[in-house]
Amino acid sequence: MTDLTTPAQADGHLGVKRPAISFEFFPPKTEEMERNLWDTINRLAPLDPKFVSVTYGAGGSTRERTHSTIARILRETSLLPAAHLTCVGASRGEIDEIVDRYHQVGVRHIVGLRGDPPGGIGTPYSTRADGYQTSAELIAGIKKRHADIEVSVSAYPEKHPESRDFDADIDTLKAKVDAGATRAITQVFFDNDLYFRYLDRVRSRGIEIPIVPGIMPMHNFKQARNFVTRAGTTVPDWFASKFENLDDDAETRKLVAATVAAGQVQKLAKRGVDAFHFYTMNRADLVFAISHLLGIRAKTIQKAA
Ligand code: FAD
Repeated sequence: MTDLTTPAQADGHLGVKRPAISFEFFPPKTEEMERNLWDTINRLAPLDPKFVSVTYGAGGSTRERTHSTIARILRETSLLPAAHLTCVGASRGEIDEIVDRYHQVGVRHIVGLRGDPPGGIGTPYSTRADGYQTSAELIAGIKKRHADIEVSVSAYPEKHPESRDFDADIDTLKAKVDAGATRAITQVFFDNDLYFRYLDRVRSRGIEIPIVPGIMPMHNFKQARNFVTRAGTTVPDWFASKFENLDDDAETRKLVAATVAAGQVQKLAKRGVDAFHFYTMNRADLVFAISHLLGIRAKTIQKAA
């Protein structure tokens, strides 16, 4: 960690380009979760993220909550929101209506996804006959209706668990770019070499859009490990060992999680990565500290009128 505090790294004004950061939130289920989310947003907003995104529950289960969270961000802050949207379990007409509603309230950024199989990860994927069949179709649909909506998509440094191989995986990314996607955000990964190997593969296919690393500080290692492993992320032994014997020690776990994630982003930054997307899990503390160590300082922001 010592090299995080060298002046050049610590101060974005000393000739080191300030990385672009973005934050991901999930829509709250209860009033208490809503209050917590807004404390988090208010704490992180002064870090001046390029955008903040709000996820869309599996199978569209949070359609209304995602919309109302995005609408409130637009109303009450000067942040640029990006709404996640999947094609699972809905007709084209229903999806088009959601996109139109977003456009109407001022949303100009959507994270367009296929979504997990309706039966959950590991079960066969199926679509509705009247729905968008693939993420590329969804993206083309969004761009056709509203060319001024920017579309970001997913990318998988370890390939998506359903992909036959890396070639098939990158074919999908290429199709999404051809349909109009201009940024990819990666699934969480812990071994930076996997990211750089993937980047080489992507660039060798002529795909030039930014591939922004998705960074997840592991507040609750045990729980998060199960979740990320199911989504195809490898948790290396050296990484897991850092959380050994800490299941009942939340305070130390938090410090370790921040240290590990800060080390990861710093190493990526040293190798030229200039944008990071943080999976915040609706918590500000670790992400704020990691951003600070990246040289990002809070600025005074004006709330939208
Ligand atoms: P795609 O990019 O379309 O496909 C991923 C890979 O799977 C492709 O490379 C392709 O090779 C393979 N593949 C796709 N379809 C098939 C098929 N029928 N047969 C064989 N292989 C296939 N999920 C949510 O529900 N809500 C969210 O808000 C959400 N946000 C996310 C944000 C990010 C940054 C990421 C990385 C993931 C997110 N997910 C979300 C998870 C995502 O929905 C799942 O990973 C889903 O299984 C794939 O959707 P996709 O758009 O990534 O798929």
